[in-house]
Amino acid sequence: MHFDHHAGLGELDGVVDSLPIHAADDTDITVPDPAAGARSVAEAIEDRYGYTNQSVVEHAPLSRFRTCGLDVTLARVDHGSIPCYGLAVEGPETDAKLAITGDTSYAIPEQSRAALADPDLLVAAAAVPASVHETVPDGRIDDTGQRPDGDHHGEDGVPRSLFGRQMTREGALALGEELDAETTRLVHATHYYPVEEAFAEPLAADGERHTL
Ligand SMILES: [Zn+2]
Repeated sequence: MHFDHHAGLGELDGVVDSLPIHAADDTDITVPDPAAGARSVAEAIEDRYGYTNQSVVEHAPLSRFRTCGLDVTLARVDHGSIPCYGLAVEGPETDAKLAITGDTSYAIPEQSRAALADPDLLVAAAAVPASVHETVPDGRIDDTGQRPDGDHHGEDGVPRSLFGRQMTREGALALGEELDAETTRLVHATHYYPVEEAFAEPLAADGERHTL
């Protein structure tokens, strides 16, 4: 998990007395930390945010658990060497379903796709438009030095992933169709969207609300 996806946990210190943090106990993709050795996301969160005195609750990926009256499933996604999980959140009384991809490329494993399928709302990471290499000079986009030619091309030849770890806007929309999402909203956008596309649907805006 990259820092931008968990840094807010530190803000819990002193704000709430008790708030369980649910995280994956999976150690076959490990948090890369040579000093600590193989660790699950749950162990890494405990190490980093243990000072907040919140309890970390471990869950096996794809095993459903209930919290706050909702059924939640952690589904492993694909973010290069970084362990990341999407979420399926289901309302047992309403049958409503929210799916969140988390930080991922288009290459989400089949079992996880099944867990995320048929949502009323899909919140999908869409870091860049597939055309990003047309508007941003090479070398400015990614610090890995990789050319942004992309991976997981659709039948139209458009890359659904870039940099081996991020979904393109086109990839996120294709995933929404594949999962048969009723509504798809795109998040995790970088500043590499051209200005005329940066606020265009279906890119989500901060604070927007959906009733499922
Ligand atoms: Zn990331």
